[in-house]
Amino acid sequence: MPRVPFVDSDLCTGCELCVETVPSVFQIEGDVATIIDPEGASDDEIQEAIDNCPVEAISWQE
Ligand code: SF4
Repeated sequence: MPRVPFVDSDLCTGCELCVETVPSVFQIEGDVATIIDPEGASDDEIQEAIDNCPVEAISWQE
C-alpha cells in the first residue's frame, strides 16, 4: 500500500498553507485541514506541504 498523508487535527491551526500548496489533496473542513484525496498529487508535492506546515501537523502514514 502506498504511503498516504495524515493531518493531526490536534496540531493543525487551519492556516490553509497546505490547501494553497496542494488543493487536490488538502481542504479545510471546519477549522482544520483534512485529506480529500490521499493520492491526488505526487509524493513530491505532498512532501512540500509537509515541509511547509508551520506546526508540523502533516506526516506520512505507511
Ligand atoms: S499547513 Fe499545517 S497547520 Fe496549516 S492548514 Fe495545513 S496542516 Fe493545518
